[in-house]
Amino acid sequence: MKRPLIVQKFGGTSVGSVERIHSVAEHVIRAKQTGNQVVVVVSAMSGETNRLVELAKQVDKVPNVRELDVLLSAGEQISMALLSMTLSKLGHAAISLTGGQARIMTNNNHNNATISHIDTSVIDEHLAQDKIVIVAGFQGINEVGDITTLGRGGSDTTAVTLAGVLNAQECQIFTDVDGVYSCDPRVVKNAQKLDSIDFPTMHEMAHKGAKVLHLPCVAYAWQNHVPLRVLSSFDAGEGTLVAGKEAKPGICGLAIQKQVVSLRICEEHVDVVDKQKQMLGVEESHWVTDSTYSHLLVKADCRDKLKLVIEDKIVTEQDVSLLTLVGSNAAEQASQYQQLLNLSDISVLHFCEDTHSITLVLEPGAIDKAANVLHDNYIIASGSVEREEKQVHLG
Ligand code: ADP
Ligand code: ASP
Ligand code: MG
Repeated sequence: MKRPLIVQKFGGTSVGSVERIHSVAEHVIRAKQTGNQVVVVVSAMSGETNRLVELAKQVDKVPNVRELDVLLSAGEQISMALLSMTLSKLGHAAISLTGGQARIMTNNNHNNATISHIDTSVIDEHLAQDKIVIVAGFQGINEVGDITTLGRGGSDTTAVTLAGVLNAQECQIFTDVDGVYSCDPRVVKNAQKLDSIDFPTMHEMAHKGAKVLHLPCVAYAWQNHVPLRVLSSFDAGEGTLVAGKEAKPGICGLAIQKQVVSLRICEEHVDVVDKQKQMLGVEESHWVTDSTYSHLLVKADCRDKLKLVIEDKIVTEQDVSLLTLVGSNAAEQASQYQQLLNLSDISVLHFCEDTHSITLVLEPGAIDKAANVLHDNYIIASGSVEREEKQVHLG
């Protein structure tokens, strides 16, 4: 009889040193010894992808997208090989595969590609030989065989898509916190660990900056019914199960997005800027409008790319941070948020409403305090979740 299969993904901090990789190997061996086939997805060692991005930027502020993918994919190759060597040394047959070797096919959208198909024949063959299969996260190949990457944080998406196509019992995302919290536990002192979170809430939190799960990973698991769990690679525990299609009423969580830039654009240029932004593949962005100008909010790392083409249409630029309250009625209480934050001398630059959330645009220096104030008022005061000890590890 075929043994159950699980996919385990380990993020950057979890594979951040040879010692950490040893502890990951022990996790994987335990999963195998309890009777599972195991496919492991690894990220680059913590800090490695940033280091590679910086190297590329020293050569060119806006590097060639194809070559950037060749460079960035190297990070995951280092961790997968080290993990495979560790497993072999511990007496367990293992093999590491790049995205291309694992036949992860993507579209041609370099630096932010989407997985189109996975041919599982190579992975199946190795599993049939009782090996632990380690796959490099965050990468695939396009139809001409060029390396592509899936956008920052993309290893989660590699893991969940593999879990879907391999019909895994569970996709386990091991990270440096012990589950999904009501807000980023590194910022919000009273953030509460959730035993479970529904897909609509998790999707909106990931969409608005909660990087604990990559947005396409949540979307894929939701659409394809992949059992998905977020756990700590440092501490034992049940983590957080992501399951359920119905969002709870009220405000369910807060998401924070730092390193955003607000570009003020004259009304007459908005259409052309919007088209150019799309042509450049800058997808995650919002427009907010006041009486005279429109403001384009984009991730700060897209700034240089955008400025290459729209510099003459930017009136001013300002670094900002975004705080999103997630919940179907979150937008109804905008004036109350403003009043509460005024008490802490924080002013909201803009509000952006969405169907299941509202985003407050703030000065970067105000974001942490604002997140704590609103979290305590809308999550703690409502008492919807039991409080637990926080387990957070620094990368
Ligand atoms: P990995 O390298 O394991 O993929 P990430 O850094 O991508 O880890 O994601 C984990 C981090 O996500 C945590 O360390 C935490 O700071 C951040 N985070 C943001 N929002 C949340 C949230 N709601 N719950 C848990 N962690 C969150
Ligand atoms: N190494 C990539 C990054 O740092 C992908 C990932 O970690 O998921 O974004
Ligand atoms: Mg991540």
